[in-house]
Amino acid sequence: MSGRLPASGEGLAPGWATQFASDNTAGVCPEAMSALQGADAGWLPSYGNDEITRQVCDRMRALFETDCDVYFVFNGTAANSLALSAMCQSYHSVICADSAHVETDECGAPEFFSNGTKLLKAHTDEGRLRVDELERLVRQRTDIHYPRPRAVSVTQATELGTVYRPEQIAEIATRAHDLGLGVHMDGARFANAVASLECAPADVTWRAGVDVLCFGGTKMGLPVGEAVVFFDRGLSAEFAWRCKQAGQLASKMRYLSAPWLGMLDDGAWLRRAGHANRMARRLADRLGCLPDVTAHVPCEANGVFVHLPADCANQLREDGVGFYTFIGGAARFMCSWATTEAAVDALAAHIEHTLQNPRTCE
Ligand SMILES: *Cc1c(COP(=O)(O)O)cnc(C)c1O
Repeated sequence: MSGRLPASGEGLAPGWATQFASDNTAGVCPEAMSALQGADAGWLPSYGNDEITRQVCDRMRALFETDCDVYFVFNGTAANSLALSAMCQSYHSVICADSAHVETDECGAPEFFSNGTKLLKAHTDEGRLRVDELERLVRQRTDIHYPRPRAVSVTQATELGTVYRPEQIAEIATRAHDLGLGVHMDGARFANAVASLECAPADVTWRAGVDVLCFGGTKMGLPVGEAVVFFDRGLSAEFAWRCKQAGQLASKMRYLSAPWLGMLDDGAWLRRAGHANRMARRLADRLGCLPDVTAHVPCEANGVFVHLPADCANQLREDGVGFYTFIGGAARFMCSWATTEAAVDALAAHIEHTLQNPRTCE
C-alpha cells in the first residue's frame, strides 16, 4: 500500500507469490490487448469523438439493454468521485459501508471532487451495506446542522468479496429512493459479481434501481480505465465538464475505450471474470481443508478472505507471498483473469507447508 515505488530488482518475488496481492497485479487480457492494437491505426478524432468510442458506448447500451450515458475515465477513484460529485451538492452526504473503497482507499477524493460532500459510514453484513442503516443514518438527524444524505454507494462485488443479489440491491435502492437518495454502485469488480450471479447486467443495476454504475475495467483485464454508466441520464448533463476539469478526459480517447470492445465482444468479460471466480473458489476449497485456517466470509467472487495463524501469516510475508490484511484483519488473496490452477495449488501447498497441522480432507 506504500506510495513509494520499488527500486529495480527490489521486491521481485517469483510469479505466483506476488500475484494474489491484488487483481490488478495481472497484465492485460489478450482480448483487450488485441482491441487496443486494432485501434492503433491512422488518424481519428480526439476527445471521444471517434468511431471506436461511439461503438463501445453502443455496446454498453446493448449490454445493459437501455439507453444509458457512458464516460471513460482513467481509474476507479476518479470514476467514483466524479459520479458521486454529480449526485451531490457540497452540503450533502453519501451513505456507504464502513469498509467502502470510497471511504477507506480514495484519499478523500469523493469529498474533494464534490467540494465537501461528507461520507457517512454504515454497518455491513459480510461487506454488504445493511438496509436498516439507511433509515438510521437518514432519520437520526434532519436538522440544518447535519450534512443532508443524498446518495447511497454500494460496492459490487463488495470489498470483502461477497456479492449482492439483485433483490438485495433492489431492497436498498427502493428504500434509498423513498428516502430521497440516489444510488451509486462502485463496480470495480462488477464483472466478477455478474459472473457469480449469472444474471443479466441490467437485473443487478438499473432494473434494481441503480442510478450510476462505475464499471471497473482495470481489474477485469484492461490496461487502464473504468466506465461511468449513467442510467439516470439527468445526472450526467454536465459530466463531461467534470471529467475535463478533473484531468480525466483522455485526448486520445480511443486507447481508453478500444480495450472495452475486446472485452465486451463475445462475452469475454464474463468468461474472464468467471475464470477468476473459479480460481478463488478453488483456493477457498483448498484452504477450507486446513484445520488452522478459517474463512472470514464466504467466497462469492474472486477474493478469498481467511484467518491465518499469526506465525503462518508472518512466514508467508517472509517468503515474499503478497497479500493484504487491511480489511477486517483477515488475509486477502485475490484471483484474476490470469491466475492459473497451478498458481492456486502452489499457494495452497505453501500455506499448508507453513502450518503445524496437516489437512483434514482429500
Ligand atoms: C480497485 C478498486 C477501485 C478503484 O481503484 P483505483 O486504484 O482508483 O483504480 C474502486 N473500488 C474498489 C472497491 C476497488 O477495489
